[in-house]
Amino acid sequence: MCLILGTERKSTGANASKVLSSSVVWCEFLSTALTACFRVYEIIPGGFYVRALGVLRSLALLFPTRLKVVPHEFSDRASFRSWLLDDDGGFRNTFTRDIRAREQVTAPFVWFAPSDDGHDVEDFLGGHDDTLAWCREFMSPRDEIKPNYPVADMMDDGYTKDHGYDYDLVVIGGGSGGMAAAKEAAVLGAKVACLDFVKPSPAGTTWGLGGTCVNVGCIPKKLFHIGSLLHESVRKDTPSFGIRLGEPNGASATDELSGIVPDPSTQMRWELVRENIQNYIRGLNFKYRVRLREKEVTYFNKLAKFTDKHTIEAVDKKGRSSLITAARFLVAVGGRPSPLSCEGAEHAISSDDVFAMEKCPGKTLCVGASYISLECAGFLAGMGLDVTVAVRSILLRGFDRECADKIGDYMVDHGVRFKRDVIPSKLEKIETGQTKVLFSDGTEEVYDTVLAAVGRMADTDKLGLESVGVETNPKNRRIIGKFEQTHCPNIYAIGDVLDVSQRDAHTLPVRVDKLLTFCFFWGTENSRADARCYPSGSLSCPSSFWWRQGGHGLSKCMHDCLYTDRIRVCGII
Ligand SMILES: Cc1cc2nc3c(=O)[nH]c(=O)nc-3n(C[C@H](O)[C@H](O)[C@H](O)COP(=O)(O)OP(=O)(O)OC[C@H]3O[C@@H](n4cnc5c(N)ncnc54)[C@H](O)[C@@H]3O)c2cc1C
Repeated sequence: MCLILGTERKSTGANASKVLSSSVVWCEFLSTALTACFRVYEIIPGGFYVRALGVLRSLALLFPTRLKVVPHEFSDRASFRSWLLDDDGGFRNTFTRDIRAREQVTAPFVWFAPSDDGHDVEDFLGGHDDTLAWCREFMSPRDEIKPNYPVADMMDDGYTKDHGYDYDLVVIGGGSGGMAAAKEAAVLGAKVACLDFVKPSPAGTTWGLGGTCVNVGCIPKKLFHIGSLLHESVRKDTPSFGIRLGEPNGASATDELSGIVPDPSTQMRWELVRENIQNYIRGLNFKYRVRLREKEVTYFNKLAKFTDKHTIEAVDKKGRSSLITAARFLVAVGGRPSPLSCEGAEHAISSDDVFAMEKCPGKTLCVGASYISLECAGFLAGMGLDVTVAVRSILLRGFDRECADKIGDYMVDHGVRFKRDVIPSKLEKIETGQTKVLFSDGTEEVYDTVLAAVGRMADTDKLGLESVGVETNPKNRRIIGKFEQTHCPNIYAIGDVLDVSQRDAHTLPVRVDKLLTFCFFWGTENSRADARCYPSGSLSCPSSFWWRQGGHGLSKCMHDCLYTDRIRVCGII
């Protein structure tokens, strides 16, 4: 069944031929019997047709495997009406069983059809209002479970209320995922503990409670990003708006008359920005501790390691160790940046270090074309630094190609240099304290800072997972399991630590954790999340945002993700 929209379009000259050559909008659900084709007819561009078409097109863009929209457009009202109304075979008469169709005189005229030529009609949908209502319904959470929705078929984890362990649930990792899950479980009545311990980066950087997003990810990235956008704006735009920085009473007329655009002194002081952002983050670290306490989650600043499937050894920073037992464990240890594999890799820093650097990074080489590399390159360049990105193959693998390429062009326009088809083959510290980089193409260049952003590995190395039968992917050390349950039934995992086939997006651990805890303590098993359908996005600087879409199309979890307020999304976009 196809859903099709049709219209006449008022247009003239060159536009008319363009409009006439695009004809039909259809919308198809491939996966179920709901295959549909839309046709809509527009009378006045910008009117009801355009709105209905816009909404349908957005849905089709979001769910390309389920919807297809094909517009039917006519050059003027007369031809539209003749096509639709003609007594001897006007198109609306095709819908013999639907009086609404046979009485419809206006555009859009929307119906379902099995193919995009629109001739084999199925049901009539309606006009503008009916179409929007259908779209709303399409995007609404549904109570019934469709066969293709991910339904939890989890192993029995042996949980009983009188289990006799110290806690109902111990969460290992106090990042976005772990904290959300811990708090949610406590709210639902569970006795919960959360352990979080930050191992210093190879360059010695460390931070407080809250995990990657708060300390060395989304939050500092976004704040630096805002700063560099402001900087760019002040530097480039203020003169055009007559704003003269550093001159209390505005610019002298001479500047305008001479036609010289003053270059306002807009140096962005790294030390000051860094200090303010770090203070802000310290405030968040404190608030997170308070919130855990408020929700009656016991917090331990300790490093966890499994000794058996119901016991962990917890070691504090002084090396003192204790044992904690629990009926269920949730592993939310996230990931850490992978180092470069070339000689002298120790001279590079990572995203774990850049936001806390005491001194301005200066001339910087960002290695890698991941979103992390490009985001860092973007805000550093926006701050006025000389930035190069070394790219081995393509930008933003896994993201929409067209957008990724546009982002690359955009960054070049804004002063970021790209060194294509290279990897660093050697890093060497020189007398000046700078780093000399030899590239695989034989070229070399000296930088103040080399920032490696070539991927991340799950932080499961010394967690003792092998001792409790939890399997990890050797390539990325991520935990393999079904939904969020590992191969050891009472041990669950969420967030960045889950293997990519379980969780194909980096952005939404909080959402999954909430669903997971609902399942633990409410038994709403059907609310399983299928993380593969999450969209993910990323920021570049100058200001742009791009999406990576999960490959599984619409499902109940997507409905829930987008349309229920009980679910919040981690991080900032
Ligand atoms: C530079 C950068 C920018 C990003 N930008 C965004 C963005 O804009 N939007 C977005 O949604 N996402 C963004 N992300 C991704 C986001 O930060 C992660 O997806 C998210 O933080 C993962 O949460 P998590 O709970 O899985 O793990 P984490 O937040 O990494 O938390 C894991 C915690 O567990 C601790 N831990 C590890 N091992 C142990 C142990 N054995 N015992 C106790 N504690 C342990 C770690 O120290 C850490 O505190 C960004 C990431 C980076 C690096």
